[in-house]
Amino acid sequence: MDPQTTWNSLLDAWLYRHWLDVSELAESLLGWLSKKGFPPNTMGTQQLGPERNRAVAIAACQYAAAQANAVLSSPNQIPAEVPFTLTCATCNNEGPDTYAEAIDEGWTCIVYYPAGQSENFLGECPVCRERDGEA
Ligand SMILES: [Zn+2]
Repeated sequence: MDPQTTWNSLLDAWLYRHWLDVSELAESLLGWLSKKGFPPNTMGTQQLGPERNRAVAIAACQYAAAQANAVLSSPNQIPAEVPFTLTCATCNNEGPDTYAEAIDEGWTCIVYYPAGQSENFLGECPVCRERDGEA
């Protein structure tokens, strides 16, 4: 395996929330590292050295695999242990405090969004749905 390619693919999969890929890539890299395979460069142009890269890669892969598996095993891929804070991806409207309320109000396309600044989930609010003629 090329651990650098795997690491880069893992970051891309995380960015685009391709959870099955995140899970598989993280587990694959963890397996490689557990067999004393050399670690990827985890910090781009900053050189951490192999032992720190190994530690960062292991911690990041364990975290990514756990998050991905939580999403994949949760109803509607909404992990229950993540606080439900919802924002409309189009207009930045804030959503209600629970997934059930959001569905009742007409929110759609709700996805876990770990890269969010203040929200953990993105969706499409009922106002935008109506404006776009999809309601
Ligand atoms: Zn909206």
